[in-house]
Formats: sequence, C-alpha cells, structure tokens
Amino acid sequence: MGGQYQGRKMLKVTLDLRCNVCGGEQFLLPTLSETSEDVRCASCSAFKCKSNDLERAMSTAQRQKAALAIVA
Ligand SMILES: [Zn+2]
Repeated sequence: MGGQYQGRKMLKVTLDLRCNVCGGEQFLLPTLSETSEDVRCASCSAFKCKSNDLERAMSTAQRQKAALAIVA
C-alpha cells in the first residue's frame, strides 16, 4: 500500500526526459548501493531508460546546474 519503495534508497529527480507511459518528468534513480542502472518513472514506476539516455540527461542537468552557479 504505497510502501513499495520504503527502505530502498532511490533518488527522485526531474530529468529532461519524459516517461512514455504517463508523460511524467520525475524519475527515481538508483543510488550507489543499488546495482541496477534502470531508471523508473516516479509516477507510474515504468522503466524509462538505460544509462545511455540517463547519461545524456544528467550531463544536460549538470550544464544547467553550472549555468545556475555562474549566475549565482
Ligand atoms: Zn510514468
């Protein structure tokens, strides 16, 4: 009952990707303790992408963060 991920450390992030099931932009990333590289949609739990897509999305996010840091 909603506690499916309780006790598992997942990182909830907004990525420059869209779930192709529900269109959500928030995803759960496995943490270092997780061996899986799968990314799940935070809304419907569909497996969204593998590390290739994720790497691209994360590098985009890092560029955005760097840009923010420059502004700040
Ligand atoms: Zn979804």
